[in-house]
Amino acid sequence: SIRVQEIKLRMSVPHVLIFPLPLQGPVNCMLKLAELLCLNQDIHVTFLNTEHIQQRLLNCTDVQIRFEKYPNFKFLTVPDGLPEDNPRNGDQIRKIIEGIEEVSSPLFREMVTCASTTEKPLTCLIVDGIFTFALDVAQQAGIPLLYFDTISPCGLWTYLSVPKLIEAGEIPFKGNDLDALVNSVPGMEGFMRRRDLPSFCRAPNLDSRIIQLVIKEGKHIVQAQGLIFNTFEALEGSILSQFRALCPNIYTIGPLHSQMKAKLASQCLPKTATSNSLWKEDMSCMDWLDEQPNKSVLFVSIGSLATMSKAQFFEFWYGLVNSKTRFLWVQRPGSITSLEEDDINAPRELSESTKERGCIVSWAPQEEVLAHPSIGGFLTHSGWNSTLESIAEGVPMICWPYFVDQQVNSRHIGEVWKLGLDMKDVCDRVTIERMVRELMEVRKIEFLERAKQMSNLAIASVGEGGSSYQGLDRLIEDIRLMKI
Ligand code: UDP
Repeated sequence: SIRVQEIKLRMSVPHVLIFPLPLQGPVNCMLKLAELLCLNQDIHVTFLNTEHIQQRLLNCTDVQIRFEKYPNFKFLTVPDGLPEDNPRNGDQIRKIIEGIEEVSSPLFREMVTCASTTEKPLTCLIVDGIFTFALDVAQQAGIPLLYFDTISPCGLWTYLSVPKLIEAGEIPFKGNDLDALVNSVPGMEGFMRRRDLPSFCRAPNLDSRIIQLVIKEGKHIVQAQGLIFNTFEALEGSILSQFRALCPNIYTIGPLHSQMKAKLASQCLPKTATSNSLWKEDMSCMDWLDEQPNKSVLFVSIGSLATMSKAQFFEFWYGLVNSKTRFLWVQRPGSITSLEEDDINAPRELSESTKERGCIVSWAPQEEVLAHPSIGGFLTHSGWNSTLESIAEGVPMICWPYFVDQQVNSRHIGEVWKLGLDMKDVCDRVTIERMVRELMEVRKIEFLERAKQMSNLAIASVGEGGSSYQGLDRLIEDIRLMKI
């Protein structure tokens, strides 16, 4: 009976295994959640990274030192099944997911099954929503599973509507009119156009592996014990109520980076930088920002996965320069396709104006950049993390979505939340110049006021008693109650 007591005691320690999709956005998000959980000393967290991601994190950040202060935290790694030289960018998403399914998931299964007999048995799994294999693993091991979908709930909702869109004959599109409204995404009738659907809906062939994947994802996520979202009620309340009809246990805990800041402040912990970047951040742009006037700089970044052609790159450059606005531009290595390093033969007018009014870096400390008083706008690809980071800091946006949920996000930013301008599907210097002037000059005050209102709501949601604050509290309490 001493043995039985011992086992019971071991099982009463909450132990969460977190497994993100091995991409910058999800890894950043889930590491923030891991750190928020670790602040509760009774909760143990094991974070499962692919070897590739772990190596890059260790090379580019102080993650190792940062997490050393949490004795209840540990990293584990698995291979991702891809050759070392795979660029692991946006074009590779399908291969990345297939690699996880084929190579990493059997190891994950083994880990989960064996861990129930080890010193600290797992009591909860938190994994990316696209990892459909985890549902079966969790059920077999008898461990509660929470799916954390780090894309936008509004985007995920359109994924869940894909079967309806197919059934209604709305996809594949009939005819070429991308401005036609779609009616089969519940709650988005009236403003959702074909061009605002996730990029994969444009494929003429619905057998595409990605379509099959998202249909499968939709079926699986609603069977988990709960869904975690990086969003807040005041932003996406109506979408969230649609989700609650399918899966009542929803935890809204975003914006996660604001929640992190608020928690550190409330516990009087130093506001240390919490970078989870997979590229080395060039901090010199912060000094440059210090020298610019208030709200005068447009931040330009297309995130960690999107790419642009060389022609598009020059349209962007001319548009920015012709707008006469100051800009801080992230040119991620490899983000301009078919461009060799020394291939940027910039005409003199471009390089001279850029010297005067611009700053170019290969990777920026984005959260800090967006929080800087000189920033007045963000030309973004509308990735969900970037969107939330911008909203939290009250920075209006120009959206140039690339793929997946970004088309949906940018429609919401432009049309529903009125936090900026949607430039989707257009990339010419005249439009870019016009939109930059509209955001940064003509309608500057209007957009800044609107963005400030939404930022206040975001900050309130992570403050004591706010909806995301309560969401995280409830998540932590539920994790404590989960017993195998
Ligand atoms: N990011 C950064 N520095 C940069 C560009 C991006 O730290 O120069 C971060 C950004 O803060 C965000 C993440 O990378 O947290 C990008 O995630 P998002 O969901 O916006 O887009 P994705 O890269 O997944 O397309």
